[in-house]
Amino acid sequence: METGSTVQQLHRLIPAWFGRAARDLPWRKPECTAWGVLVSEVMLQQTPVVRVLPVWEEWLRRWPAPADLAAEPSGEAVRAWGRLGYPRRALRLHAAARAIAADHGGSVPDNREQLLELPGVGEYTAAAVAAFAWGRRETVVDTNIRRVHARAVSGRALPARSLTTAEMRLAEELLPAGRAESVRWNAAVMELGALICTARSPRCDECPVLAECAWVAAGRPEPDYVPRGQAWAGTDRQVRGAMMAVLRAASGPVPRGLLLQGPVDLVEPDADTELAPLARLHGLQAPAEQMERALAGLLADRLAEEQPAGIRLPG
Ligand code: SF4
Repeated sequence: METGSTVQQLHRLIPAWFGRAARDLPWRKPECTAWGVLVSEVMLQQTPVVRVLPVWEEWLRRWPAPADLAAEPSGEAVRAWGRLGYPRRALRLHAAARAIAADHGGSVPDNREQLLELPGVGEYTAAAVAAFAWGRRETVVDTNIRRVHARAVSGRALPARSLTTAEMRLAEELLPAGRAESVRWNAAVMELGALICTARSPRCDECPVLAECAWVAAGRPEPDYVPRGQAWAGTDRQVRGAMMAVLRAASGPVPRGLLLQGPVDLVEPDADTELAPLARLHGLQAPAEQMERALAGLLADRLAEEQPAGIRLPG
């Protein structure tokens, strides 16, 4: 653990930088509802801000409160998820909206314990919503915060591969005592990790804590492991994503044979028609067993359902 004076410096410098440099994001505005914060936290978990913004705005326009989403079939949530990736998150949000409508009078719970009881809400999301929507003092730990702690305080290039108790303890020790200060600290450290202390190429020259940074002071030691890249081309995830795009664009069930085998030779992949996503799916030239596996996965995850007429989003 760092000395008290270093921690004091971090507590002063990082929130001050946040005041100058924070992005103007709609879920950070005071008028944003707790529901808006919850939706943003789930969307942002594996998707960058620029891709989340238009989808988040459309979701909140269409479903301004949990009860509005709860009244729709889950397939509508999946359709509106668009291309954010990892679409099981849409099903989890839909299930959470139904639980909020049924068990909490339509209001997002205002404490971590009750948030954790919502379907699909884990430790990170519960802490983040309690902090950012309700102003509670919570230890929020996401990948950006972990990276800043690892570098600035622990002097390591990267945090451990998975969250350790030592990291949680450090995050708790670093959290300012005051409620408002703790909320701002969480948001500011997260933003520093997103904008300056990035995974691949930290912009130390622009960093407000360059003079305090333990990793820089240690001579920027190499990481003790090589982070895995997120391969995409040729993966089952890519095929599943392309298959979901077909189902989202379709106005009715897509026959299984058409989904798995085509033919779509006459359709241009960039044409603006219902069949274009099908052309893109088959343009991947995935082996038949990979196509079958992708479809079986979507059905098992309830992201799609099979009817006599074909495959469609869940009703
Ligand atoms: S000085 Fe560089 S490594 Fe240290 S916290 Fe700032 S951006 Fe990260």
